[in-house]
Amino acid sequence: MHIKKQRLLTPGPTPLLPRALHAMMASDIHHRTQDFIKLYPVVLRDLKEVYGTQNDVLILVSSGTGALEASVSNFFSEGDKVVVCSAGKFGERWVELAKAFRLNAVVLTADYGDVVAPQRVEQALQENPDAKGVFFQASETSTGAAHDVRAIAEIVKKTGALCIVDAITGLGTMPLDIDGWGLDIVVGGSQKAFMIPPGLAFVSVSAKAWEMNAAAKLPRLYFDLKKEKKMADKGESAWTPNVSHILALAEALKYIKEIGMDNLVQNAMLLARATREAAAALGLELFAPGSPSSSVTAIKAPAGMDSGEIVKGFRNQFGSIIANGQGTMKGQIFRIAHLGYFDFPDLFAMVAELELILHSKGIPVEFGKGVAAVQRVYAEAVAGRQS
Ligand SMILES: *Cc1c(COP(=O)(O)O)cnc(C)c1O
Repeated sequence: MHIKKQRLLTPGPTPLLPRALHAMMASDIHHRTQDFIKLYPVVLRDLKEVYGTQNDVLILVSSGTGALEASVSNFFSEGDKVVVCSAGKFGERWVELAKAFRLNAVVLTADYGDVVAPQRVEQALQENPDAKGVFFQASETSTGAAHDVRAIAEIVKKTGALCIVDAITGLGTMPLDIDGWGLDIVVGGSQKAFMIPPGLAFVSVSAKAWEMNAAAKLPRLYFDLKKEKKMADKGESAWTPNVSHILALAEALKYIKEIGMDNLVQNAMLLARATREAAAALGLELFAPGSPSSSVTAIKAPAGMDSGEIVKGFRNQFGSIIANGQGTMKGQIFRIAHLGYFDFPDLFAMVAELELILHSKGIPVEFGKGVAAVQRVYAEAVAGRQS
């Protein structure tokens, strides 16, 4: 028998930053005392710095979906027309939220693996000049495809509509110039590139969005961003926060600032490129080759094989947890994540594991071919940095 370390390598939850995990032990403080009131504004300030925006950035105690819901309930009224881009399971979540809050959604769908082209958003806004918001994913984690955030934002910016981005796996994996591009609402989540466990959601709010908020009549209570902002300005959270997560976030943000948000993004982009090259070297097809995301790479299982066998191989042979496809993509694809506390050795191992798993399933594999592709990308990047 050999040792199998458990490695959590999915596109959320992601590998945890050890020092953030250790910081969670100190959560025996009360959230209405000076201990917390000294900590919280620093966390909010660092989060804003890492987001790279002058807009307000707020923290909600929920998984990412709570902040997606807040992005609907805080800025619109019943019957408001909105444009929703849906290119995967998370796009479908925007559609469900719009429906649940009785918005009048013009839905632009793309096939799984594809994205909604900016021109389609432009046309939808021309046909629906009364649209008050445009919703989309920066990175559609379920398919491994990324939207052209900048191009969509530039179109939305010229209208009265809010540009609302689920960047839960976009933050820290792709460049997002919130202020420069005019992203009104940008949602993030703790268990993605922020390297800490699930349980916190983040949302940035532009001045244009606050204006809409003043007139928005949808019901809201727990996820009331105005209330959250009022309390944040006093150094507190609206409700009892998960103090342990705030402590972890403080450490993770310090770490991200040390390495630099741009470098975190570069790291993910490089890992993503290396993964695509490894897939090509092993004769595997990408699920979203047209506009691949740098947060996660979705790879098709070889013909005739259920991708669940690969996922199971990772878990049973090596203790590595990787993601299967979601919904109808289950069994078709497996997903290799690049976001947050992921490094090249993680990828060397994952690709080596993949080669062994494919081999054990009778797929012809030349050992080391995929790993070599990753090594080449790494070596070239290091050489590029030194020259
Ligand atoms: C993870 C994720 C979410 C949030 O899901 P929660 O389970 O609510 O945290 C939303 N959108 C995308 C693109 C994601 O990757």
